[in-house]
Amino acid sequence: MSARQPDYDYDLVVIGGGSGGLAGAFRAASHGARVALLEPGEFGGTCVNVGCVPKKAMWLAAELSQRIDMASRLGFDLPPPKLDWREFIVHRQRYIAGIHDSYRKRLDAAGIVHMPCRGHFVDAHTVETHQGLRVSAAHVLIATGGKPRRPDIPGAELGLVSDDFFSLCDAPGRVAIVGGGYIAVELAGVLQALGSKVEVFVRGSRLLDSFDVELSDELAENLRQHGIHCHFADPVAAIEQVDEKRLRVVEHSGRAGELFDSVIFATGRVPNSDRLGLDDIGVSVDGGGFVVVDALQDTSLANVHAVGDVSSRLALTPVAIAAARRLMDRLFGGQPEARLDYRDIATVVFSHPPLGMVGLCEAEARERHGDAVKVYTTRFRPMLHALADSPQRSLFKLVCVGEEERVVGIHLLGEGVDEMLQGFAVALKKGITKRDLDDTMAIHPTSAEEVVLMR
Ligand code: FAD
Ligand code: NDP
Repeated sequence: MSARQPDYDYDLVVIGGGSGGLAGAFRAASHGARVALLEPGEFGGTCVNVGCVPKKAMWLAAELSQRIDMASRLGFDLPPPKLDWREFIVHRQRYIAGIHDSYRKRLDAAGIVHMPCRGHFVDAHTVETHQGLRVSAAHVLIATGGKPRRPDIPGAELGLVSDDFFSLCDAPGRVAIVGGGYIAVELAGVLQALGSKVEVFVRGSRLLDSFDVELSDELAENLRQHGIHCHFADPVAAIEQVDEKRLRVVEHSGRAGELFDSVIFATGRVPNSDRLGLDDIGVSVDGGGFVVVDALQDTSLANVHAVGDVSSRLALTPVAIAAARRLMDRLFGGQPEARLDYRDIATVVFSHPPLGMVGLCEAEARERHGDAVKVYTTRFRPMLHALADSPQRSLFKLVCVGEEERVVGIHLLGEGVDEMLQGFAVALKKGITKRDLDDTMAIHPTSAEEVVLMR
């Protein structure tokens, strides 16, 4: 690492011990930097405690439930699946406790000083903990993440948010989910599969508007087949308490349908930037409160940096981690050019079935490349679903550009695509053409082979 700056207590202070903060602290320490990390809660932040990890555990439980159901339709002698949530939660939380433990050991081994405190800036190089202790550093990394947003409507306080979902000990009978993004779709699928009756209230005209419209429409059809009712294009105006236990969702049109045991808001997230003293030291935030960063993750102050959900970048765990690692390689690892390439980031929604994409949607490609775009699609029923006569369908789509048909978008909806997409994302990033896919031998019989067999 470059020469130490002895005037400061540390080379780096990290505010927040979630995905981005931990990754940054570990990478900086591996380059020899003296690091302090402020985290008042459990290590791992949103992802480990109220995000990816417990969500994926619940999704796996939901998948098992659907498979048990299919198995019984195929001749296995099984009672209808019924999950004991409390027992499952013990397994889920044991797994999460293992992650906390492993972080603790790795922090000790790396010589990173952990301060179990909330922090805010006093000046560009000094952070004060909520107990009043001051630490100074040559560089400060803001990695404070975000929290769920409740809409500003009457009765909003009656609803739950995703953090509360992870405290549930049983499937609520009837659930209304407000929102049409990642969290709404994922929680809807999990709850429906585990025994709730779910309705989703979307203010726009479709689910997941950053995904290709054809696939998000097909996903909506799959949700319908699973018994989930989606309401579109009618924003929720209020939540009303009808009696001691039940709630009513009132839409702008005035429609007020079924009564619900729970309402869950999945209406986006707000960054944890408001209590950091950013204004006082001159770090810019945008209208939504997100810390503004440049391509190097630098804020408006050269020695203050930000990664992850608190910045206005893609809110995904691997993105926060990769951005933090590249930043530390640049600051302490002698790699002045290191920075994250934000293009062609693959992402998967853990719906039932999962939906994944990398690169451009068809509409984006047509906007950029006009008539040079060629699209290939295939719809099919995966073998297990065909055997069990389940209505679930897969839809795969390739978006190609130019004479050489360079693949600029891969969109996959269907069983197994969550595991399938990673390899194809490498191929897309390497600039493959449709011909490269044609030249690749299929693996038969699989769903993945459909990607190399499209005509
Ligand atoms: P966080 O992980 O939120 O960490 C921020 C940390 O900062 C927290 O631990 C907090 O306690 C701490 N902090 C806050 N303020 C202060 C302060 N003043 N001082 C000190 N510490 C502070 N992404 C995926 O890639 N895949 C998924 O499947 C996925 N599923 C998700 C499911 C849900 C329900 C949610 C909500 C999110 C999901 N995400 C998923 C997104 C992912 O969790 C986030 O993108 C990721 O956690 C962001 O990491 P971060 O380090 O920016 O923030
Ligand atoms: P999203 O941005 O995905 O979706 C938010 C949804 O809420 C949109 O449908 C939006 O509608 C709607 N909405 C926003 N404000 C209101 C309002 N006032 N009233 C009604 N509806 C509203 O956010 P999520 O909260 O679902 O997830 C946050 C982020 O976390 C995701 O964007 C993703 O980056 C990450 N995540 C990743 C996952 C994964 O990788 N599998 C899983 C879960 C989260 P509109 O489109 O009209 O604005």
